[in-house]
Amino acid sequence: MRLSFPEPIISALPIVRRLREHHFEAVFVGGAVRDTVLGLPIKDVDIATSARPEQVLELFERCIPTGLQHGTITVIQADITYEVTTFRQESAYESHRKPESVLYITELDGDLLRRDFTMNAMALAEDGVLYDPYGGIYDLQNKTLRSVGDPDARFQEDALRMLRAVRFIGVYGLTPAIRTWRAILRHRHLLKFIAMERVQVELDKMLAGAAPQRALHYAAASGLLFHIKETLLAETAFALKEADRTAEAKRLFNRLHELQSVDLRWAALAIGLHLSIDATRQALQVLRFSNTRSKVITTIIEIHKAMLGISEQVNDRELRAGWLEVIIRFGKHHASDWLEIMRKLETVPQTFSEGLLNDLMSWLEDIPVSTLKQLKISGRDLTNQLQREAGPWVSEYLGRLLLMAALEQLDNNKAALLAQAALWNKERD
Ligand code: ATP
Ligand code: MG
Repeated sequence: MRLSFPEPIISALPIVRRLREHHFEAVFVGGAVRDTVLGLPIKDVDIATSARPEQVLELFERCIPTGLQHGTITVIQADITYEVTTFRQESAYESHRKPESVLYITELDGDLLRRDFTMNAMALAEDGVLYDPYGGIYDLQNKTLRSVGDPDARFQEDALRMLRAVRFIGVYGLTPAIRTWRAILRHRHLLKFIAMERVQVELDKMLAGAAPQRALHYAAASGLLFHIKETLLAETAFALKEADRTAEAKRLFNRLHELQSVDLRWAALAIGLHLSIDATRQALQVLRFSNTRSKVITTIIEIHKAMLGISEQVNDRELRAGWLEVIIRFGKHHASDWLEIMRKLETVPQTFSEGLLNDLMSWLEDIPVSTLKQLKISGRDLTNQLQREAGPWVSEYLGRLLLMAALEQLDNNKAALLAQAALWNKERD
């Protein structure tokens, strides 16, 4: 089979050519080849070569010895980085993750043999010819994920491959070969050897992919998440398990892929699983999410909890007031994220009706002010004009004024705001 090259591979061709001019073998490998076959956009271009790392270093002007001990050199060309790795064979894996020793070899076949799945074990030559000794094309055509060689051995060598398997199943809409799947079930307890950071990366890619719901299904069915190094709260683990049981729960995440941002997908997942704020926070911490991401996700859950309380209000006026308070407290941006999630979560019955969500949306769009910054009065204005010493009253007044301005009970101009503050100040006496 001969393939035409997509742009990222064309840009990397000079590297392969240069290696070959020096009588080394050099081919494209890994995800770039897989995604070229599938006609999908390419993330990073990996090159495998018979040249030793020190020989690669000599041939290219700009390179970084990124993973010298594993034979990987990063070559930089036109500000794009390419990983060039010497053909190698791995043996005697330590702690079900790291190969204890790396043996450089001169044959491509041996290098492809160490790779995880058949679709990741294809090589593409400079002339566009595909080399596929383990049937990757056949498996891709049949949408099958299959280990290279004996799946039991492969997952025992490196337990991370089990999570990669579930990720590929989800992202590429595959079905695992029976022996591959059985081996995952058999060796899932080995996941405890994998660093939580790696677990996070895989889960994140699963959720960010084209079919997050499918990945979730396989993640739940594999039971892998019960075997990670640091445990999730029982509440979270139980919810995840249940989420795969009933038909209703299965429908819940049908439209998860329509949410653009992966953090919104995480928030939707926590909401759909009815996780408490504490359980969400714990899960994110265990999974080593950055504080920034954690904050975004938990804020949306907090909004959800607040809105569940408010939605009991039958009266439109109170509903709007409650919603505007939420917007002011958590920010317009997060509030609109929450709305977007509510539109995509297929809860039955719908927690928030279409009509209600539309109202909330238009109230959000029409809110005249939502932050203290936008309020045409400052704390200093208040202390000066009311001739009162600064204290907790200042922020209390500002908060009340902001809410009134947001509800359009007051105009957002200095005179009106001051007059109202003066009134409260007087009532105090
Ligand atoms: P993506 O870049 O989309 O995450 P990928 O398959 O390119 O997927 P990389 O981590 O970039 O994944 O690895 C490049 C290649 O290295 C893979 O395609 C595979 O051939 C091999 N590989 C990566 N991780 C492993 C592993 N844990 N075990 C065996 N081979 C692996
Ligand atoms: Mg890759």
